Amino acid sequence: MTAQDCTAEEALDTLLMGNRRHVHGQPTHVQTISDRATLATTHTPIAAIVCCADARTTPEIIFDQAQGSLFTCAIAGNVVTDAVLGSLTYAATALQVPVIVILGHSCCGAVTAAVQGVTLPEPLAGLVAGICTGGHDDVDAAVAANVQAMVATVQAALDVPVIGAVHELATGTVTVV
Ligand SMILES: [Zn+2]
Repeated sequence: MTAQDCTAEEALDTLLMGNRRHVHGQPTHVQTISDRATLATTHTPIAAIVCCADARTTPEIIFDQAQGSLFTCAIAGNVVTDAVLGSLTYAATALQVPVIVILGHSCCGAVTAAVQGVTLPEPLAGLVAGICTGGHDDVDAAVAANVQAMVATVQAALDVPVIGAVHELATGTVTVV
């Protein structure tokens, strides 16, 4: 299934079914040499993902998708900066992705720093200042609030369905929020 023949609902179903395979330890995607040859000339991702730069929340793995399937913007705290929004605009217009997913995760260090008001050096401080904790002291609640705020930011800028979700590191489960 490619971006050209896939609705937002179908794309989200594909991601969540892949997540179930991941949770149950039954991944199906392995890159072949012929896949690589095809991807050298084209890619038709089924979704754009804004995720944290954290090494434990890699979208292709947690959604069990092939290389070339996900247009990924990874940034600490999954903050939608101008640069991220520029990348998403390319995904929406040039690649015509049917859906954008803002993906937070449990135990996020960047969100924890924002909740705790940790003093950080620039330019990290500026990035963490962009996290919207919703005033929550609880990190899990702040992660969800930040996802929802970033969903609203993208919805205000782009005419593409935007979904918020949180990845639970301990179980691998992705939940729409
Ligand atoms: Zn994180």
